[in-house]
Amino acid sequence: MDLLHRFSIRLLPPFTSSFNSEKLAPLYLSTRILLSRPAFPNPAPLSTPRSPLSSSAVSKAGWFLGLGDNKKMSLPEIVKAGDPVLHEPARDVEPDEIGSERIQKIIADMVRIMRMAPGVGLAAPQIGIPSRIIVLEDTAEYISYAPKEEIKMQDRRPFDLLVIVNPKLKKKSNRSALFFEGCLSVDGFRAVVERHLDVEVTGFGRDGQPIKVDASGWQARILQHECDHLDGTLYVDKMVPRTFRTVENLDLPLAEGGPKLGVR
Ligand SMILES: [Zn+2]
Repeated sequence: MDLLHRFSIRLLPPFTSSFNSEKLAPLYLSTRILLSRPAFPNPAPLSTPRSPLSSSAVSKAGWFLGLGDNKKMSLPEIVKAGDPVLHEPARDVEPDEIGSERIQKIIADMVRIMRMAPGVGLAAPQIGIPSRIIVLEDTAEYISYAPKEEIKMQDRRPFDLLVIVNPKLKKKSNRSALFFEGCLSVDGFRAVVERHLDVEVTGFGRDGQPIKVDASGWQARILQHECDHLDGTLYVDKMVPRTFRTVENLDLPLAEGGPKLGVR
């Protein structure tokens, strides 16, 4: 899930050149353009090709740039809305496959891509892989950029990196809340979504051991958002109609008759 506050631009890497080189752009798959308005949590990426570069392209470009980190350069791109992988259910991972090189690489890639975006959550379909794996993390640093009253209203607290394979989500109370949320696969937009405030998620950790997470507030929202991805559901499929807006318009008031934000 996207970072929702408006100051995360400070998290972005200082890279701003290479706009004029299509060949170089894909190397910075998740680097964001620094825009003049500092209120952008998630400006458009430099490029949008879905497939990673071929190994020969990577090695040539790496040589050209003097970069030796092929792993970094072969990270998959974040898949955008419209790609069928985002709109179809993902498949369970066989528990005894979690330790395999393939699944461990997918998890490692997901964590790196989420952090580079930057975002607070990512589901495997968002990198084009129809497997039931989610990663999420919210840090004190990310949260420090959000307005204090927003943090309080959203009940947003930092939590360590969580990797959950085959997550199963259950609501744990009848409390819910309405807030704007965004998605790394729906760049540049936000909408109000009603989410449960208290949830329990069970599944497997990256070590293949069963885990159970009890979450509330913003962490519960992120978990619901990411688990929805595994069912082929984007937040726009659940949003309150007529709250959809561009990030630039995030601070404008809701139209008359619109929902009231906060806990219900
Ligand atoms: Zn998302």
